Amino acid sequence: MRDSYELIVKNGDVVLPGEVRRLDIGVRGGVIAALEPSLSEEGAARVIDAAGHYVLPGMIDMHVHFNEPAMGHWEGFRSGSAALAAGGCTCYADMPLNGNPPTVNLAALELKSAAASGQSAVDYTLWGGLVPGNLDDLEALASAGVIGFKAFISNPGGEGEGRFREVDDDTLYQGMKRIASFGGILALHAESEAMTAALAAEAVRSGKNGARDFAASRPPEAELEAVERALFYAERTGCRLHFVHISTAEAIERIHAARLRGLDVTAETCPHYLLLTEDSMAELGPVAKCAPPLRSKAEQEKLWEVLAAGKIDFVASDHSPCPSELKLADGLSFMEAWGGISGAQSSLELLFHEGVRKRGLPVTRIAALLAEQPARRFGLDRRKGAISPGLDADLVLLHPDYSYTLEAEDLLYRHKHSPYTGLTLSCKVTATISRGKLIYTAEDGILDGSGGQWLQLREGQPVL
Ligand code: ZN
Repeated sequence: MRDSYELIVKNGDVVLPGEVRRLDIGVRGGVIAALEPSLSEEGAARVIDAAGHYVLPGMIDMHVHFNEPAMGHWEGFRSGSAALAAGGCTCYADMPLNGNPPTVNLAALELKSAAASGQSAVDYTLWGGLVPGNLDDLEALASAGVIGFKAFISNPGGEGEGRFREVDDDTLYQGMKRIASFGGILALHAESEAMTAALAAEAVRSGKNGARDFAASRPPEAELEAVERALFYAERTGCRLHFVHISTAEAIERIHAARLRGLDVTAETCPHYLLLTEDSMAELGPVAKCAPPLRSKAEQEKLWEVLAAGKIDFVASDHSPCPSELKLADGLSFMEAWGGISGAQSSLELLFHEGVRKRGLPVTRIAALLAEQPARRFGLDRRKGAISPGLDADLVLLHPDYSYTLEAEDLLYRHKHSPYTGLTLSCKVTATISRGKLIYTAEDGILDGSGGQWLQLREGQPVL
């Protein structure tokens, strides 16, 4: 039985890099061992019939906020990773700011990794933070295996002494020099603190507390200014740079132009900038509040154009949950409500629904944006990101013609709110496989919610 497979996924339309083929996938030792037009089922421990489905590489979501340690009542590894698994995600990266303490030194990373250990449905990586005062902690965090560093140019919110703070220009510049010295990567939330703080204060002073006032207090110029400043520092320091949740096509164009002139820089956007607009914030309220804010319909169309032109490197959820009362409490103005969208469970379905079904993008492009390109950017591509022999058997079955309306009770988040509830989708994730193990089916829910492991990055390569 030496040649038999522990799992065969049969008859699916397999989404390979750049092409779709009807293939059987044989899995051995948690790894893709064979891709053939037809594999013998003899001796296979399990066979899954994927007829009528796309089989995609598991999504890699490089941007989620789980709040442990200490803040698991907002979102924890257990609930957050279950939601990701149900949405077809098989690897994610947890941001450093929402736990207490934030992940800005080795001791905090140990607390973070202990909180995650044995609690995640799928494999994961951890971000470290760059904040004022922690320059001397960066190299130790890198040696301990963080995927990269995250910094905020604008105030990330939150309260208390130990909160994650935005960088001043000197910290940003010196931090980029340090990170460049050991070949790390810096991810940036790019909005000008000077511009957004002044505009928000002025809005509040004049009693402008609504959704459109919030959007006006964080204009595209605030994003562009911060992007330009960071690109200048990257050019001078040689630091590898990644811009998270870019909301405007103009910022994408400038980042793309910087790459063409030789900078090692990438950009992500999020499903909410592609699916929702400023009008959604006004209609849905704080459940659709995020920063940078949702933009106009015209701005959104331009974002789709640069995405179709291949100028956006990948899409991540920026899942940023909170208890419902911080969004919905009586008397809470839009300005005061917690900013952050819960969306991690829906990314693949949203991108397929809007991108493939409505806008005619090839499904291979969706796989590139959600799996191949994030894997390549962060050195995870020797293990993950594509359906290819030798890579982890992280697979998603997506029914491409399945109409259903997303309800709050479908969500596996700790707090079941999302701007996408009530939306009728045209596709559905029906099964998720992590390293060859079936961990989720639409019929039975989560089958194994704790098998995920930390992929530590050592010398640019992931180690389990
Ligand atoms: Zn975020």
